Amino acid sequence: MSYSREPRLHEAETRTRPDRCEHPGCAAEANHRAPKARSQLDDYYWFCLDHIREYNRNWNYYAGMTDTQVESEIRNDTVWRRPTWPFGGTGEDFGPGTRFRDDLGVFEAAASMGANKSRDQDSKRPQYDSHIQRALRIMNFDGPVTLTELKSRYKELVKRLHPDANGGDKAAEDKLKDINQAYATLKKFLGA
Ligand SMILES: [Zn+2]
Repeated sequence: MSYSREPRLHEAETRTRPDRCEHPGCAAEANHRAPKARSQLDDYYWFCLDHIREYNRNWNYYAGMTDTQVESEIRNDTVWRRPTWPFGGTGEDFGPGTRFRDDLGVFEAAASMGANKSRDQDSKRPQYDSHIQRALRIMNFDGPVTLTELKSRYKELVKRLHPDANGGDKAAEDKLKDINQAYATLKKFLGA
């Protein structure tokens, strides 16, 4: 199989060709050359097949950069994307087959805390019958209510919705009927 017909893969030019691939750390033979930049089409990098292909893949990415920037990019790519710890020796903690250990149970505790939290919220929210919930809404409560609070709210609402205060407004009158009913329901619910 030959890659020599791929775009931008050129036959080796023995005169300027270095012995080894110019990708840092690569010891492969440099059989392929690539222009360093669009503005430097007669100045080449020399790469092995793997690295000329990588370079070509990144051609558009490198296109706007200067020669120095390109070289720096290639170098950074080599340094930072490789594991820097030595294989074997002190690196064994991260070696293959190492199981994640949670000796202190931190992650397990956090996970179950999350689960308990939602359970607690559910159990603390009182589950009233629907007619009690409706009565609470009508009297403008959004949670549990004491008899004192209920009576106080009722007085306040009656004062506000009394026909004398609303010029016989029908909507206020209807609302007051609902409130009287809700008040009776909640009083009974609270054992009063
Ligand atoms: Zn190479």
